[in-house]
Amino acid sequence: MRFIDLRSDTVTLPTDEMRQAMFEAEVGDDVLEGDPTVIKLEEMAAEAVGKEASMFVVSGTMGNESAIYTHTKCGDEVILADNAHIVTHEVGSAAVISGVQLRTLRTDKGYLDAKDVEATIRKENNIHYPETGLICLENARSDGSVVPIDKMADVYAIAKKYDVPVHLDGARLFNAALYLNVDVREITKYTDSVMFCLSKGLCAPIGSMVAGSKEFIERAKKSRKLMGGGMRQSGVIAAAGIVALTKMRGRLHVDHENARLLADELSKIPNIKVDLNRVQINMVFADMSGVGKDDSYIVGKMFEKGIKILPSEDGFMRFVTNKDVTKKDVLYFIDCMKEICLS
Ligand SMILES: *Cc1c(COP(=O)(O)O)cnc(C)c1O
Repeated sequence: MRFIDLRSDTVTLPTDEMRQAMFEAEVGDDVLEGDPTVIKLEEMAAEAVGKEASMFVVSGTMGNESAIYTHTKCGDEVILADNAHIVTHEVGSAAVISGVQLRTLRTDKGYLDAKDVEATIRKENNIHYPETGLICLENARSDGSVVPIDKMADVYAIAKKYDVPVHLDGARLFNAALYLNVDVREITKYTDSVMFCLSKGLCAPIGSMVAGSKEFIERAKKSRKLMGGGMRQSGVIAAAGIVALTKMRGRLHVDHENARLLADELSKIPNIKVDLNRVQINMVFADMSGVGKDDSYIVGKMFEKGIKILPSEDGFMRFVTNKDVTKKDVLYFIDCMKEICLS
């Protein structure tokens, strides 16, 4: 049975073109002299985000964590938003792997405020103080919102003033660029390193990229090896990444349009609250508490109808559109939701 899967954009299946490219990929040992297909992907990714070099990693988490490891030393402080993926959804690995202290800032608007960052950066060489080793930004944010470029630019200017590096968690960087209607390089010029995922809306089966200066990526590759991420004939999966980067970026607008449709229609169902202003990329968040039905009941009924959704997290159900969800699927989902919630 074919399911309509709205749990995430990580569920996207590789396209036929990806499978063909994987089949045909020219490969080598990437730990030894470099795999030709991986090298090609790394060059393309670096170029796409306007950096000197990039490295192919297994996951977004590995990408963020190797960037943190490379930028910092044990005991450093890393400034980031309290709702950043790095602090909420990466298993505490910044502490485990890099031995850094995450200094989270409250973000009412969903992004770091440059003034707060400046106030938090350690300026004196006080014997009690850790050193500020890194500032981490996120765009698009995992709550589906996009950070305006000028807000990133403000933080970047402060970071440069105090000579602190900036890393961008850009898991959905291309979705952010689409929403802002800019080339991704307009975003990534305000960060020293960036991670983006090939395996989310871009539909690759596996993989993320970390980009930065040539010197940074050389050192980051050593941290990737340390984390067990030195892969051998990884051109087999990098081949799908190349298709993701070249062919799948151009269709992300379909996911955004479907999310908009889903949000508009969902908001018309009585007792479901959707903040339409927050629908900026391919994600819709709905407060279902007014419906008077348990999440497990709604999730179970949806499953019976061939739709996979997740229960609420922090009071919101999240619905994510992706390549394998059509406009017709969205309308079917809305019909099912009406039936479940209004019966
Ligand atoms: C998904 C995601 C990650 C991590 O990617 P994985 O490949 O799941 O490890 C990091 N940051 C953000 C904002 C994400 O949405």
